[in-house]
Amino acid sequence: MLPFAIKKLFFYAYKRGMMKIFGCIFCQVAAHEKPATIVYEDEHCVVLRDIRPQAPVHLLVIPRKHVTSLNDDLEEDKLLLGHLLTVVARMAKEQGIDGTGFRTVINTNAEAGQTVFHLHIHLLGGRILGWPPG
Ligand code: AMP
Ligand code: ZN
Repeated sequence: MLPFAIKKLFFYAYKRGMMKIFGCIFCQVAAHEKPATIVYEDEHCVVLRDIRPQAPVHLLVIPRKHVTSLNDDLEEDKLLLGHLLTVVARMAKEQGIDGTGFRTVINTNAEAGQTVFHLHIHLLGGRILGWPPG
């Protein structure tokens, strides 16, 4: 986990448009410009293994389209968001964690722990997951 001050710095850097200057890491992954372990992809989304897994199964479902977070105006993206959830369910089945259970997480902004400002759904499973989350 990144210290809170660093997360804040990322957030303000993003706000100032610096992410656009340096490029968005998940846009680069989706375009195959950056290496990643991709387990599924289609016209609308890509699923990759998290580089710092927090559970035996930890996948990230990302749209190809750059959406910053759930704070964006998502009026035009309702179908896309629904599609992402159907892919989550499909991945959970493929990874064999649908029966035991899995968790989906979307962190929005710094205090919730968002560090990559391209919308992504975490899919976690393969162990007992505590509640409430930290
Ligand atoms: P969040 O903190 O919700 O924004 O989640 C970002 C996630 O992306 C973290 O769990 C990171 O470990 C993961 N991550 C960051 N860069 C990469 C990368 N290049 N490939 C795979 N996962 C990544
Ligand atoms: Zn992006």
